[in-house]
Order: sequence, then structure tokens, then C-alpha cells
Amino acid sequence: MSKIIAIANHKGGVGKTTSVASIGSILANYGKRVLLLDLDAQANLTSSLLATEPEETVYNSLRSGNALPIARVRDNLDIVASSLEMAGVELELSSRMSREFILKDLLEPIQENYDYILLDCPPSLGLVTLNALTASTSLYIPLTAEALPSKGLKMLTDILQMVKKRLNPTIALDGVIITRWENSKLSKMVEEKLRSSFGTAVFNTKIRKNVSLAEAPLFSKDIITYAPDSNGAKDYQSLTEEIMTREEK
Ligand code: ADP
Ligand code: MG
Repeated sequence: MSKIIAIANHKGGVGKTTSVASIGSILANYGKRVLLLDLDAQANLTSSLLATEPEETVYNSLRSGNALPIARVRDNLDIVASSLEMAGVELELSSRMSREFILKDLLEPIQENYDYILLDCPPSLGLVTLNALTASTSLYIPLTAEALPSKGLKMLTDILQMVKKRLNPTIALDGVIITRWENSKLSKMVEEKLRSSFGTAVFNTKIRKNVSLAEAPLFSKDIITYAPDSNGAKDYQSLTEEIMTREEK
């Protein structure tokens, strides 16, 4: 069965897109069949992996119900691109019947072609994120070690409970990813707080702050290809190994 993982946090800049691109590429290196979905109107995931923007995007499928336009990045790694049009999609879909299930229905016919499907969510808790949570087997939340978890985090866990109750009883918070970690008092406090709040959901591996992770997307390259010896590559490598152990046991 394929694992469908929503990487979500309505806070921007926490490492959602970087995590989807890096984990997805490394899973593909391990021979896993991987599909990445860019659901953010900023389309950062799309531009970080594809040098040219595909014409067809997830927006067209969400509106029409037509098959998702899958583009190939390389062996084992596929992507469904996003575009700026996604900025208006929530309003357009808001009066649809079963509007939270649109993405789940689009994934149904193709999910068995993949071992992992990773969903890069927009920085909001609107209908697109609800669609992602409804379609997923797991939620992973990336959190930066640069600020103590805010009240906003409770909004996200409350939404998860609502989704569990009404839309997708089997989803669970299966991962918390600490990102932009530094050897500082603040980062250590944040880590301690997250481990005491979320227990074993927090991955052992922390993603350190690393400039190569910020540079790689400018060259449309994943971190392993761009800077294989960087701390960013090492950390995401080790995180991805943890994910495979966790998801495939
Ligand atoms: P989100 O998708 O949650 O908005 P991004 O993954 O786009 O977050 O990350 C925000 C910015 O921080 C991007 O410019 C990205 O390249 C950079 N970045 C992400 N993770 C790291 C890290 N561990 N170290 C340094 N820069 C990072
Ligand atoms: Mg993003």
C-alpha cells in the first residue's frame, strides 16, 4: 500500500517544501517509486525540481476532476506541478459537494503506482490543506528550531482532530521534523519542548541550518545532487532512513 504523507504547517518558511523535495529525492534514490504534489500557489516545489514549468498543473485537475498531470523529474521521481492559479482555487471549490474529497478522488486511480506520495501544502489551513489531510495516511509537521512553537500549532492539531473525526479517521500525526536547527540555547529549548509535547512523533534526526539547502532550489537540483557532502544532505539522508524504518515496519 502506498504511504500518502501531507507535509503541513500553516506557518510559512518552516521547511515544508525543502523537506518534500529532499525526502522525495532520497526515497527515489533508494528505488522507491515517489510522487510529489505541489499544492502551494507559490509553486516553489515545482521550480526547485523542474527547470521549466509544465503547462498542466494540479489546479486544472482540482477544478475539472480530470487525471492529475504527472511530470517526470527523473527515474522513480514524479511531480504534479502547481501554479499561481492555485491562489484562487479555494474560492472556486468552496460550494462544491464533498469539496474536501476532491484530491483523495484524484489520487485514488494512481496511488498504487507509488510507494510514497508526498503533499507539499500551502501555508494556510484552508480547503487545500483540508483536501491534503483528507487524502493522506499521515501528517508530518516541520517546525523551525528558531522560535518556540506558537499558539498556531494548536490550531493545526485541532484541525487534525476535526479531520480525523469527520473526514479521514485513519490519519495520524506520525512525524514532527525539527528544521533550521543551530547549536544555540534557543534551538535546544525548542527541541526539548517539542520532544516533551510530541514524544516519539519527533524524529531523532534534526535538520541543521545549512545554506546549501537554500541554494539547491536555485539550480533546480535536489540537495544530494547539488551538495552531497553538505550537512543538509547528511541530515535529510538520515531523516529519510528514519522515515523508511518508521513507515515500513
Ligand atoms: P516552507 O515551504 O515551509 O515555506 P521552505 O522549505 O520554502 O519553507 O523554506 C523556507 C526558506 O528557508 C527557503 O528559502 C529554504 O531554501 C530555506 N531553508 C529551508 N530549510 C533550511 C535549512 N535547514 N537551512 C537553511 N535554509 C533552509
Ligand atoms: Mg513551501
